Amino acid sequence: MDAFKGLPEARVISDPSDLAPFLQDESHLRGILPLAVVKPHGPAALRELVRRAKAEGFGLVPRGAGTGKAGGCLPTERTVVVDFSEWPGEIQVSPQDLCLRAPASAPLRDVKAAAEARGLFYPPDPNSWESCALGGTLATNAGGPNACKYGMTRHWVLAVDALLEDGELHTFGISSVKANAGPSLGQLLIGSEGLFGFITGATLRLTPLPREYTTLLLPVKRWEDLLELPGRLCGAGYLPSAFEFFDPAVLAELRAHGPEEARRLPGEALAILEFDDRGSTSDAFLEGLLDLLGPVADQLEVASDARQRQGIWAVRRMTSVFLKERHPRKVSEDIVVPRSRLREFFAGVGRLDIPAVTYGHLGDGNLHVNLLAAGETDPALLDRQLMDLFSLAISLGGTLSGEHGIGLAKRDAFLALSDPGHIRTLRALKQALDPQGIFNPGKMV
Ligand SMILES: Cc1cc2nc3c(=O)[nH]c(=O)nc-3n(C[C@H](O)[C@H](O)[C@H](O)COP(=O)(O)OP(=O)(O)OC[C@H]3O[C@@H](n4cnc5c(N)ncnc54)[C@H](O)[C@@H]3O)c2cc1C
Repeated sequence: MDAFKGLPEARVISDPSDLAPFLQDESHLRGILPLAVVKPHGPAALRELVRRAKAEGFGLVPRGAGTGKAGGCLPTERTVVVDFSEWPGEIQVSPQDLCLRAPASAPLRDVKAAAEARGLFYPPDPNSWESCALGGTLATNAGGPNACKYGMTRHWVLAVDALLEDGELHTFGISSVKANAGPSLGQLLIGSEGLFGFITGATLRLTPLPREYTTLLLPVKRWEDLLELPGRLCGAGYLPSAFEFFDPAVLAELRAHGPEEARRLPGEALAILEFDDRGSTSDAFLEGLLDLLGPVADQLEVASDARQRQGIWAVRRMTSVFLKERHPRKVSEDIVVPRSRLREFFAGVGRLDIPAVTYGHLGDGNLHVNLLAAGETDPALLDRQLMDLFSLAISLGGTLSGEHGIGLAKRDAFLALSDPGHIRTLRALKQALDPQGIFNPGKMV
């Protein structure tokens, strides 16, 4: 659409042949051809886009790095994709204030590296941390293996810079953990998936970098024992900084078709545990831990140096990519159940005959349930299987998404299964903050 050519402070892509990459993210969905893709270089571009969107009735779809798994950044009908990859700004670390300022365009890996270079730690670590953008992680409230100890992105955000429906840039929050002048509007934007406006940057909370790691590869003799372990560890005062797992079916896939190192893995199921507390490499700590793990372990490998630690993590990092390559049309969900209900959840999956394999973040009950044959399954049956899965998680006190969000992929299920009061409140907020519905139309609510 040439109408966007004269936009200030922006690069515009409007040739249909150049728009194809923006019709995809990492979900199984595809978007509709947008009117254009705009890469803003300053607030004037966003202000003008908001003005025109309201005057001409089109929608604005924010996009980070496009690694989302819920279709949240995909263009819907009559929309312009606003791609933040060229948004300006630098990462600035303030060790005195234990915080860091960064633009939405900053790759998450650069944010984490900038903190680390000053001996500080920004914990959020989605497994896409080497490819996703900070803005996308804020908009989706991303989590990762570290969430079981450190929480999600929202727990590490002090202030959010955002451009809202008034076309103005605002900063919500300050560079301190103590800020109580009314409810936090910044937190309202975290996890809002682009529904309320554009996030242009943020001030993030940091903590001293852990200095010690104990990383263990734990093949277990019996799968059922693994399901008890997160609760037993927490009950005994051991809080892992990560507790990842592969169920027997995923382990079998890895063993049969995975890389060389995966083929040698013993056990019925597999876990990776990491502890990063001060003292976690001491003999006393390890002895206590091994007393708990020993009885369930088939074999146990404890990393004794950084190279071994990396080797253990490499198995985890490649799993979703490996499964995606082998089953390109699979559907991967990210439900959550409380740690204490894990056994009941897997018993329910068996009872409902949901043909799933599962891996993910056992330490906080966030499970990547994968329907590998989704592409070959009758769509009505697949919908039923997914609804059964979500209903089961919710019936056990969990939720249908722990980290990927709702976007387009889970919108129908979210609307059908959520408390009606929750949906009413979200719609009222949307109406108040975006009365003309210009931001990310057709998503979530
Ligand atoms: C291999 C792999 C592993 C993954 N592992 C994890 C994981 O462990 N944990 C996890 O949480 N996620 C994971 N993800 C999903 C994804 O990487 C995260 O959701 C990530 O935060 C998305 O960032 P992005 O920059 O790619 O955002 P995008 O995909 O571009 O956008 C995601 C959503 O955010 C909105 N958005 C983006 N930028 C802005 C902005 N500036 N202002 C307002 N709204 C905006 C979009 O409209 C969309 O709704 C994984 C993905 C892959 C491919």
